[in-house]
Amino acid sequence: MIPELKFSKAPASAAIAKVYADLASLKSSSLPADWLKVMEHHGYPEGEWIQVALAPGAAWLYIARPPATRYGVDGEYRALEEFRKAGHRLERLCKGHKIKTLQTEFHPSQGKGHEALLEGLLLSSYRFDRYLKSSNKVAAGKASSEKESKRLSVHPVNLGKEALLELAELCRAVIKARDLVNEPQSVLGAVELAQAFKAMGKESGFKVTVWNQSRIQQEGMGGILAVNRGSVRPPTFTIMEYKPANAVNKQPIVLVGKGVVYDTGGLSLKPTPGSMDSMKCDMAGAAAVGATMQAIAKNSLPVYVIALVPATDNRPGGDAYAPGDIIRISDGTTVEVLNTDAEGRLILADALHYAKRYKPELVVDLATLTGSAVMALSSHATPCMGTADRNQMQAMVEAGFRCYERLVPLPIWEEYGDMIKTSVADLKNIGGREAGAITAAKFLEHFTDYPWLHLDIAGPAFLDAESTYRGKHGTGHGVRLLYSYLRHRSMLPKVPAQAATSRTSSKFNKK
Ligand SMILES: [Zn+2]
Repeated sequence: MIPELKFSKAPASAAIAKVYADLASLKSSSLPADWLKVMEHHGYPEGEWIQVALAPGAAWLYIARPPATRYGVDGEYRALEEFRKAGHRLERLCKGHKIKTLQTEFHPSQGKGHEALLEGLLLSSYRFDRYLKSSNKVAAGKASSEKESKRLSVHPVNLGKEALLELAELCRAVIKARDLVNEPQSVLGAVELAQAFKAMGKESGFKVTVWNQSRIQQEGMGGILAVNRGSVRPPTFTIMEYKPANAVNKQPIVLVGKGVVYDTGGLSLKPTPGSMDSMKCDMAGAAAVGATMQAIAKNSLPVYVIALVPATDNRPGGDAYAPGDIIRISDGTTVEVLNTDAEGRLILADALHYAKRYKPELVVDLATLTGSAVMALSSHATPCMGTADRNQMQAMVEAGFRCYERLVPLPIWEEYGDMIKTSVADLKNIGGREAGAITAAKFLEHFTDYPWLHLDIAGPAFLDAESTYRGKHGTGHGVRLLYSYLRHRSMLPKVPAQAATSRTSSKFNKK
């Protein structure tokens, strides 16, 4: 259960975590002499929590590392990431010492750093434990207050209530995305995913429309239908809309999330270890865009956003689509299927074509699309490609640095388009071994006529081993990125989309 952020003064019995900008600010503060002795004993290390008092009244001190100067823009944002990681370690310390109430302080007060620390702490508390016997007992009501009483209360000193409430909602949304990703396909199919979005919309205040199989047939969404043919469970197409009266944009920003709820590869079957065994995560893009809708609605961002999720599983059953098939996407484009495991782009093609009717300011799709993206950047970054102008691309890249869901632009030059040409259809669905992330993007580009960005999150969406506050398995990757982008966009004045996108980057650092 996510720790609770409190706005009241911490009780005297609370544990204390104090962060100091540097050694000088630690030495100039009026700390108990025995605490300073402990710090001296340890040699005043930077970037480490040092316990200076035991429970009750446990206390930890932390001296920040000097800001990084390497790696250009990455270095500028590195300090915040260090605080998120410190928040992760603090969460582990609290758990280990069975701390129930914690007061956090920054000296001197540093709002962004303090928020980052809390962000790391909140996100680190996540466990996907609902299937554990111990957790079931709690759920069954045997001790329904047990979990609640174990919940950590955090009292940050000198942080605005508004910023904390916003942060808590954002973290809740990330955790919602993680839950959706971690839920096995046997529980969460395309229909259940759409139901989850309905529930989220009702709870958070955005509109959700779900199309069933026959509606998808009426729309001629041949990509979704082809991928779904090997399944006994129907596909869905979900349209989410958040349109506040005070929105800064007239033309919506459209988010598109790949919702392959399980990917066996179809007839081009995947091997199990290290491949099919994690493929419940193939709807991580869908989870991210749905959870982003939750976050922006909960926090009432003044920005008009639509989210589209085509969803199905990809199986080799009965009448499964096969290599050699030629299918027709809803815009009329024919596609020669040469590998049924390149299915994500087929269902995204229908969604991207559908997005044209909104005349969007920008479309951003998130998809666990290619192994090629993982080979290039691992889980530390996401390739970012598209036709958006350089200001929009730059704004998204900056958003990535702010929340440390970093993006790396890759080209989608004309020449790459030749790699998905075939003589028997308008396109083929794979481009060969080289530049796989790029040829996938070239395929998607065919179905766009608006400014567009494609984020291939196959690397960071799902982790086999724990990685600090990102956790293990579903990371909810993309929620903080999109939120950061949309929040920044929502702070721009009401101007036509064209003018809005040509703003300089000087505003980006302000959040
Ligand atoms: Zn696949």
